[in-house]
Amino acid sequence: MTGEQVFVSHAPADLDLVQDLFSTVKNFPFGVHIALEEIESGRSRKRLEGRLANSDVVVAVLTERSARSQWINQEIGYALAKGIPVLPLYTDESQRGGFISDVEGVTIDRQNLSFTIFNLLCRLRSELAPLGALSVPNWYIRFPCTVPGCDHPVTLELEQGQTKLWKLHKHGQLLTTSCDVCESTYYFDPATIGFVRREAGVQRSDSRSRS
Ligand SMILES: [Zn+2]
Repeated sequence: MTGEQVFVSHAPADLDLVQDLFSTVKNFPFGVHIALEEIESGRSRKRLEGRLANSDVVVAVLTERSARSQWINQEIGYALAKGIPVLPLYTDESQRGGFISDVEGVTIDRQNLSFTIFNLLCRLRSELAPLGALSVPNWYIRFPCTVPGCDHPVTLELEQGQTKLWKLHKHGQLLTTSCDVCESTYYFDPATIGFVRREAGVQRSDSRSRS
């Protein structure tokens, strides 16, 4: 799982919702292209066609506000014509129309965004894991250590399947990983893979006394 491209089609008025839903998804090593962010960075919506054509999955965010957006319908139609799978997210099942009216998607629960993000990750994991089952431990996030002056890349590998991750979340448990250099520990919510907190490495003073 690296280098895959996810295109997010949505109504302009839903940008905040989309950013909330994708904030942690963006930490995974695949490209996430949110339509309006691309436009704001100087691309015209028409020129998004290239992004769309090269995507491995198109996520269509369907809400009461997107119903009147021509762009979303056209982007969905374009993706399907190119054979790109479309994953609908919707606040209500009835918002799926046309070609995707019976495509199973993810319900957006605004009162429980953690569960929505969890379900979104489940679906992306199955769409973007062509090598095998969901249990294949090839999902990870990587980020630069946030300790000032460290910057060393830190990796969190997801060895668990989605069912197990949800159980851990339910039990209030967190996933952890450490920076190899400064030994800080990072904690993540197993459902959303969202960052929870960082703790200073206990070894830090030790290593100084040893040297
Ligand atoms: Zn570090």
